[in-house]
Amino acid sequence: MVIDIQTFMLALGVGNVAFALLMACYMHGAERSLALRDWMWARLACGLGECAWWIAPRMGSHVFEVFALGVWIGGVLLEVAAYCRFFGFRSLWRLMPVPIGIAIVTIGCALFAGASRTQMTAVVGGLIAVYTFNASVVLLDLRKKRTLLERIIGVNDVLYALAIGIWLVVEKGANAGGTTVIGGLAYLASYLLMIVTGFGFLLMCKQRDDRQMQRMATIDSLTDALNRRAFFERAESARQLTLRLRKPLALLMLDLDHFKQLNDNFGHACGDQALRLFADTARGVLRDPDLLGRLGGEEFALALPGTPLEGALQAAERLRVTLSQAVIDCAPTYRMSVSIGLVMVEPNEELTAALARADHALYAAKTGGRNRVEVGPAIFKSA
Ligand code: GH3
Ligand code: MG
Ligand code: MG
Repeated sequence: MVIDIQTFMLALGVGNVAFALLMACYMHGAERSLALRDWMWARLACGLGECAWWIAPRMGSHVFEVFALGVWIGGVLLEVAAYCRFFGFRSLWRLMPVPIGIAIVTIGCALFAGASRTQMTAVVGGLIAVYTFNASVVLLDLRKKRTLLERIIGVNDVLYALAIGIWLVVEKGANAGGTTVIGGLAYLASYLLMIVTGFGFLLMCKQRDDRQMQRMATIDSLTDALNRRAFFERAESARQLTLRLRKPLALLMLDLDHFKQLNDNFGHACGDQALRLFADTARGVLRDPDLLGRLGGEEFALALPGTPLEGALQAAERLRVTLSQAVIDCAPTYRMSVSIGLVMVEPNEELTAALARADHALYAAKTGGRNRVEVGPAIFKSA
């Protein structure tokens, strides 16, 4: 296998520039993450640097060679910055002098020592391998939750670092790059790095954005409870599943008592804090499959799949009592209370019909004095 390093450099350069242009079009007119913007500039700089490095021998200028190296390394450093931004390493600017310093010292030493063009290419490849290995440590950190995509990019990064490392150690980065198996593998790894990491980082950002959009579309931002639409969807799925499995499904409507008073006396922000406290308290007494939804204002709903009437009643009472003891930071003297209407969803009963019954029971709890749980009557008595 013979791959000419010049042609290879050009292929990498053109590939990166084309990728950066594609990303620029993708980001045009839309608000994208800063990490993605950094990534686009990184690929552009890497691509231009590689193309310039390819042209350099034809220019015959030492200054141009240093310029090409500078642009290329600048692109690599921007990639490091994009990773730092993506993973939220807050001290990004305090961290960046480290890779910048390593790059300047390494390149400076190599130039000072009169490294040949091939050796210079190997030095840059080695630097990239060091940064890539660092990225792989972050991506493959088993203590952290990472997506499959992130893990795969991490594996690719390790393979690149290994291939380049072996090439540098065994062949001293010789121009044999394309003529030996080890050199060929180093080239292949570099090419894969461009493709896999290039698109991979874009997909990583996209995956995160998608997740955020999904969250915004289903979760109430104040209380982290499901929003109205998501609650209805999930509760309907729970209804169908429990019906098929012949399991009970409890449905509760909840409304905070005299909430307007809290707002009036302690302010709207304090009311918001109370709503969050209520949702946290509710989550504290719920089990994993239970669904908490905010239907609007200070009205919530609960669906407890697989919970029979006695269990649901216990959970509702527990919530009511725990809430009555909860202390709101902004209103320490105020005690919240909640009225709850509880029904068991009947087989083949529509969710909306069951919710209407729960609402009826809630109304009874309100008129019966508030701060209480009222169970709605069953419509079909089982034999
Ligand atoms: P009741 O015991 O009969 O339920 O009385 P209430 O005061 O709780 O009921 P009402 O419907 O009269 O008032 C509900 C209040 O909830 C009015 C509204 O300002 C407040 N509210 C609705 N959404 C929010 C919110 O997101 N944040 C805050 N702070 N208050 C809200
Ligand atoms: Mg209320
Ligand atoms: Mg209300």
